[in-house]
Amino acid sequence: MNDNSTLSSILVVDDDTAVSQLIHCILTDEQYKVETASSGREALTRDDLKSFDLFLLDINMPDMNGYELCSALKESYETRDTPVIFLTGNILPEDKVKGFDCGAIDYVTKPFNGSELIARVRNHLEVKHNRDYLKQMALTDGLTQLYNHSYIHERLMEEISNTKRHELNLSLIMFDLDNFKRINDTFGHKQGDKVLQKVSRSIKDIIREEDVAGRYGGEEFIVILPNTDHDSAFKVAEKIRMSVRDLKWDNSEMRITLSGGVSTLNKENLNEFIEKTDILLYKAKHAGKDKIITALPVMN
Ligand SMILES: [Mg+2]
Repeated sequence: MNDNSTLSSILVVDDDTAVSQLIHCILTDEQYKVETASSGREALTRDDLKSFDLFLLDINMPDMNGYELCSALKESYETRDTPVIFLTGNILPEDKVKGFDCGAIDYVTKPFNGSELIARVRNHLEVKHNRDYLKQMALTDGLTQLYNHSYIHERLMEEISNTKRHELNLSLIMFDLDNFKRINDTFGHKQGDKVLQKVSRSIKDIIREEDVAGRYGGEEFIVILPNTDHDSAFKVAEKIRMSVRDLKWDNSEMRITLSGGVSTLNKENLNEFIEKTDILLYKAKHAGKDKIITALPVMN
């Protein structure tokens, strides 16, 4: 959730640079971080689009109009929840309706009043930050701060369709802590919770920012690795297995290991992909635990 220590950032897209400079001044004075783009195409080619908290868009622009730009932002997984405000000379009611229909949260007409624009921006940002916070709570596992089961399903579904559409690689790792029931029974549930937290931390420390780690069940974890081939996924799984095995515990008798299965998407749907990976995890358990089993032989 944003607070005073992190500036909200706003992208202004307008082909009239005098307008975007004016807005830049007004909003920078309010302690917002403001970037500008002079066309829809320029805006869409930025690789930091998901970092913005709000978009302020003109409508009449040469290469791509504001409606088209807004629709493109609303179609992208990374920007669909970012509020869009139109700031335009189009004052007809049907223009406004069209703006709301393509996903804008607000519509301000030029010439605009600076204080009114600031007030609208502030309110929409507040709603956005509150919603982000609630969403974060709803999709996170409270104990480990990893994503929860339902988010993992939703996200994996997205990644599968994205991977198929762009003919990329998608790999999946499923882990299960070895002998976790015995840990709980011997050292108590509080220790068990600490183990889950520390193992989760290790997983997070090893994966890349674009990977997605979740707590899939009681002591079961899952890692989605977009754009990752089978051998690279295996390396990540091995690294996690080793780092968990090397963790230090207050109680010197405690030894924590995990088993894992690694697979890469072929043509499976969500359930088939999970099941395929889960079977490998099951094999790792039966092959003596503290092991990673993969779908294909791994080149060394
Ligand atoms: Mg214009």
